[in-house]
Amino acid sequence: TAQAALAEDTSPGATSDGHAVALLANIGTAADAERVGAGAEGVGLFRTEVLFLERVQAPTVEEQADAYAAALRAAGGRKVVVRTLDAGADKPLAFATFPDEENPALGVRGYRLVRSHPELLDTQLAALVRAQAATGATPWVMAPMIATPDEARAFAQRARAAGVATVGVMVEVPAAALRAADILAEVDFVSIGTNDLAQYTMATDRLRGELADLLDVWQPAVLDLVAATARAGRATRKPVGVCGESAADPLMALVLVGLGVTSLSAAPGALPAVRHALRRHTQQRCEEIADAALGARTAPEARAAALALVDADV
Ligand code: PEP
Ligand code: MG
Repeated sequence: TAQAALAEDTSPGATSDGHAVALLANIGTAADAERVGAGAEGVGLFRTEVLFLERVQAPTVEEQADAYAAALRAAGGRKVVVRTLDAGADKPLAFATFPDEENPALGVRGYRLVRSHPELLDTQLAALVRAQAATGATPWVMAPMIATPDEARAFAQRARAAGVATVGVMVEVPAAALRAADILAEVDFVSIGTNDLAQYTMATDRLRGELADLLDVWQPAVLDLVAATARAGRATRKPVGVCGESAADPLMALVLVGLGVTSLSAAPGALPAVRHALRRHTQQRCEEIADAALGARTAPEARAAALALVDADV
């Protein structure tokens, strides 16, 4: 079938004129890493919280180090971006998060947990460095839910002191996107989490299906924040990836690449269609598609404007 033919193409992601865009996989466990196969150039988001959920106590350094080493081995020398614990809100923990928060999505979640539980982050960083030593791999490490340059700086200091060489943060809070240059001054790379960026930009709970029209990455306000982040990345010559679900949509992928995003990370099954779409468009065409989307007034208009400029079968 056409789909099988698409899946057989495991060439690196690139536009038709050879502008490289790394295509990476989102995973939650080491077993997921084994299933990624040759269709991804690595792992762009390893959601480590899966190891912590439904536990009475935090996993030990040894246990975490084993899990991280297994994922790094499964990746076989390819790039791996590990995200530190993103607990709280929709991912509660028995031993660390605060069950009585009135607005958990705006409360102590993600990196903010370091305020009350710094040992969780330090244990995790120690485990990652052990996994690094055991495998010879050098994962990139990033923190979720960073809102300010000072948080980025504090995380980077902690991670570098632990022995992590390449440190980044996620951009998924509008404040971080608006001040992306100041954030990038503190770290080596950023990765845009469009799921939360859309949630916080549009003030729309990502779990409320009936608000899906608001919770839409095609909303021009969300695209503006992605554009601002990518612009800061180009100015500082530092990588700006996208690891939210939007990277799985081939049409949106063209927009993201046109905005200047340097890698796309999504569920592995989504990558063949994204690869195919990129291969049929030049970088300049992606930029025109992105400009058209940014010029729209509404989400449906942004999507339609992008669609009008692409090859028929994207
Ligand atoms: C995101 O917010 O886009 C993201 C990739 O992180 P998560 O979905 O795990 O919150
Ligand atoms: Mg997120």
